[in-house]
Amino acid sequence: MRKLALHWKIIIGMILGVFYGLLASKIGWVDFTNDWIKPWGKIFINLLKLIAVPLVFASLIKGVSSLSDISKLSRIGGKTIGIYLFTTVVAVTFGLLLVNIIQPGKSFSNDKRMELKEQYASNAASKIASAKDVKENGPLQFIVDMVPSNFIQATGNNRNMLQVIFFAILFGIAMVMLPSEKTSIVKGFFDGINDIILQIVDLIMLSAPYGVFALLGGLVVDFGGSVELFQALGIYSLSVAIGLLLMIMVVYPLILKSFTKLKYFDFFKSIAPAQMLAFSTSSSAATLPVTMERCEDHLGVSKEVSSFVLPLGATINMDGTSLYQAVAAVFIAQAFGYDLDLSQQLTIVLTSTLASIGAAAVPGAGMVMLVIVLSSIGIDPEGIALIFAVDRLLDMLRTVVNVTGDATVASVVAASEGQLKYVTDKELMS
Ligand code: ASP
Repeated sequence: MRKLALHWKIIIGMILGVFYGLLASKIGWVDFTNDWIKPWGKIFINLLKLIAVPLVFASLIKGVSSLSDISKLSRIGGKTIGIYLFTTVVAVTFGLLLVNIIQPGKSFSNDKRMELKEQYASNAASKIASAKDVKENGPLQFIVDMVPSNFIQATGNNRNMLQVIFFAILFGIAMVMLPSEKTSIVKGFFDGINDIILQIVDLIMLSAPYGVFALLGGLVVDFGGSVELFQALGIYSLSVAIGLLLMIMVVYPLILKSFTKLKYFDFFKSIAPAQMLAFSTSSSAATLPVTMERCEDHLGVSKEVSSFVLPLGATINMDGTSLYQAVAAVFIAQAFGYDLDLSQQLTIVLTSTLASIGAAAVPGAGMVMLVIVLSSIGIDPEGIALIFAVDRLLDMLRTVVNVTGDATVASVVAASEGQLKYVTDKELMS
C-alpha cells in the first residue's frame, strides 16, 4: 500500500472495515470486535479530537492577528457568515422540497411504527432529556453560551468550541490593535504552534486507513442484527441521501463555478480525504484538522482565510445537518399522520437553520437538536425514536456535506479576497 495516495488507502480501509463487520457479525465475532478492533477506532478519533482545541485556538489567533486591520476582519467575517447562512437555508429548502415530493413517512405501516417506537424509546429518551435543557432556555441563550466565564473550562470540552473561537477572536483582535513590536513574540509563538499541530495532523493521518477500518468494522457489527430496520427506513434515508447528494453534486459545484475558477473535480480530489474522514468519524470537529490541511496545502486557500473560515464553519455551518433535520421533521410528522401547512414548513426552515448552527460538531448532535425542530411545529419529540436506527448512517453522510460546505465557502471567500492559489494537478495528487 506504500505508493497509493492516502485517499485510496482510506477507501480500502473503509471497504475492508465494512466487509470485516459483515463477516464478524455473521460468524459471531462480536466480543472479539468490541475488545480488539473497536478500541483502535476510538484511539484514532481521540487523537483527532486531542488536537482540535489547540488547533482552533492557535490557527484562529494566527488568522485574526495576521489580518492587517479590523476592517478586513469585519469584511471577511461578514462575508463568511453571510454565505454560511445562505447555503444552510438552501439546504433546508432542498430537504423540504424532497420530503414533500417523496413523502417517505406515508409508506410506514402502523405496526412497524409502534415496534420501532418501543424498541428505541429508551435511547431516544436520553436525547430528549438533553434537548429539553436547550429548549427551556431563553432566546438569547445561544449568545450567553458563546461567552465563556472561564477559559480553562472552555478549552476543557470539545463541545465548547464556540467559546474557544470567541476567546481566540477576542485575543486576535486585541493583538491587531496593539503595535506590532509588542505582539511579535506571541505571534511567532502561535505561528509555531500552528505549524507543529499541522505536522501532528500529518502523522495522525498515516494511521487513518487503519482507524477507519476499525471504526466501520465496529459500526457494522453494532448494527449486525437490524438489517430489516434499514429496509423499513430505506425510503426516508434515501430522501436524505438524495438531498445531500444534490448539495454535493449541484449546489456546491454551482457556487464554486460562479465565484471561483476552481474545477469541481480538482476541488473534490483535494478534499476527498477530509470527506472520507468526516464519513468515518461523523464529526466535523474531529475532521477539522484535516479539512484545514487539505484546503491550505492542496486547494490553495490562504492560511489567513482558512484559519478563520474553517474553524467557524465546523461549528456553525452544517448544511447536511439542516437538510437532514428538515427531512426528518416532516417524515416524522407524516408518519404520525399530520399534514404540515406553509407556516409550519417555514418554521422548519428557521428552526432547522438555528438548530444546525447550535449543533455541536460531534456525532449525533444533529439528532439532539431535531427535538427542538419537532417541538416548534407541535410534533411529539418522541418521534425521533422512529429514525434512531438509521441515524448513525445518515450522520456519517451529513457530516460529509457539512465538511464539503465549509471547504466550498472557504474557497469562495479566499477567491473573493484574491487569496486562492490555483494549485497544479501534480500538487493535488500528493
Ligand atoms: N455529526 C455532525 C457533524 O459533526 C453533526 C450532526 O449532524 O449530528 O458535523
